[in-house]
Amino acid sequence: MRNYLIAGNWKMNKTPSEAAALAKEIVPMVKDADYRVMVAPSFVCIPAVIDAVKGSNIIVAAQNMANTEAGAFTGETSVLMLKDLGVEMVILGHSERRHIYGETNEIINEKVKLALANGITPVLCIGELLEEREAGKAEAVCYEQLEKGLAGVSEADLDNVVIAYEPVWAIGTGKTATPDDADAIHAACRKKIAELYSDAAAEKIVIQYGGSMNPGNVKNLMAMENIDGGLIGGASLKADSFGELANFNK
Ligand code: PEP
Repeated sequence: MRNYLIAGNWKMNKTPSEAAALAKEIVPMVKDADYRVMVAPSFVCIPAVIDAVKGSNIIVAAQNMANTEAGAFTGETSVLMLKDLGVEMVILGHSERRHIYGETNEIINEKVKLALANGITPVLCIGELLEEREAGKAEAVCYEQLEKGLAGVSEADLDNVVIAYEPVWAIGTGKTATPDDADAIHAACRKKIAELYSDAAAEKIVIQYGGSMNPGNVKNLMAMENIDGGLIGGASLKADSFGELANFNK
C-alpha cells in the first residue's frame, strides 16, 4: 500500500497569526488520521505554523522555493532557509507558478533536484490546461512535465518525490475531474514512470489528485486504484473540511 498524503495548499491566504490559529485547530482533528497529513502555508507563516503543530503528526511544507541556494535574487526564498526552519516538503511547479509566473519545466527541474539534495521532499505538480485536454493532449502534457521535471533524478531519489496531478481547469473552479478520468491520467503517469525508471518505482510512487477536492468527493476519488492522496486548495482553508478530508476513510 502506498504512503497516501492528504495536503492543504493555503496559497496566499492567512496572516501568520491566522495561519497559526488554523494549524492549532487542525492538530486535534487529524491526530488519528491513518495517512500522512501536510499543510503548506505561505513563507512568512511557516515559523508560526511549525510552532503551532510541534509534536503533532502534521508535516509542514512550503509552496515554492528558488532554483538556486543563495545569492543576489531579490524576493526569492532559498531551500537552505526552508531546511533551517524544519520544512520537510515543498510544492513545486504548481500551475499558478507555471502559468502566472512563467516557470518552465527546466526551472522546476532545478528546484526538484535542489530540494532532494537538501533532504526536502518535492511535490511535483503536473497537469493540463482545458484547451490541451480538449485537444486530446492531456497525457502528452503530463508526460512532458514528468519527464522534464524529473530529469536527472535517480531512482533512489524518486522514493522521496511525490507527484500531484492537477488538471488546471479543475483548480479553484469547483469542477472536479471524474474519478475515472483522474485515475486514467494517474495510471498513464505511472506507466510513464515505469518507462523512465522501473515497474517497482511506478508501483511505489505516490500520485496525489488536486482540483476542487472536497469532503463530498474525496471518498470516490480516493477509491481509485491510482489515486494516493489529495492536494487541496480551497477546502483546506477551514479546519472542519480539512479534518474531514484527512479522515476520509473513517
Ligand atoms: C490547488 O491549489 O492545488 C488546488 C487543487 O486548489 P483547489 O482545491 O481550490 O481546486
